[in-house]
Amino acid sequence: MARILIVEDESNIARGLLFNLKAEGHEVSVTGDGESALDSLRREPFDAVVLDVMLPGKDGFEVASTLRAEGNYVPVLMLTARSRSEDVVNGFAAGADDYLPKPFDLSVLLARLNALLRRMSWPHGAEKNDGAADELDEFAFDGRRIDFDSLELHAPGRTVRLTLMEADLLRYLTRNRERIVSRKELLEQVWHVREDTDTRAIDNFVVRLRRYIENDPASPKYLQTVRGVGYRFMPNAE
Ligand code: CA
Repeated sequence: MARILIVEDESNIARGLLFNLKAEGHEVSVTGDGESALDSLRREPFDAVVLDVMLPGKDGFEVASTLRAEGNYVPVLMLTARSRSEDVVNGFAAGADDYLPKPFDLSVLLARLNALLRRMSWPHGAEKNDGAADELDEFAFDGRRIDFDSLELHAPGRTVRLTLMEADLLRYLTRNRERIVSRKELLEQVWHVREDTDTRAIDNFVVRLRRYIENDPASPKYLQTVRGVGYRFMPNAE
């Protein structure tokens, strides 16, 4: 059982989610605008938030980025409009952990939400709990250290708290270090997305990760772009 906040102003959708999440055994609260969502999240702890983008007043992007700025890392599943691929990009940039285009299948939403809740409750370094030897609890390189349990990244002069998606992307890159990985591969392996999602979502994450680990994010040394192909993580780059 988890405590879940639904932020959705369309009452039909909100009611459907409320009913079904309660049926799953969760404790559910509903709010219809961004400002009261932030109030609720500041007041009480939730295990996950289902956050619509289009809201009266503060929209979903503002709510997510405000939460992250305030140091609240509750998992956020964002509901985006299918016709607007930039919603996906902006959602991740604002700190969402996953997204679902509207209209969505309820079963898909429940699966994605359960995946987020599971990832929060397991040790983050052992996502699938399959005992694989390459599941790292931490990864250190060149004065940086990524702790996949606490979701903290330590770099010279700063410590950053990672979102689940940032940590998942970093874990995939560390496992596949020194190999070129395509954007499509990252979408499939990290986001588990197979549709023709806008790959700019990936580029956006890479820009953020570079700010965390690079001395000069504009000319990256560790997280390199391979033009026309994808990216390559080179932790031992000279
Ligand atoms: Ca809405």
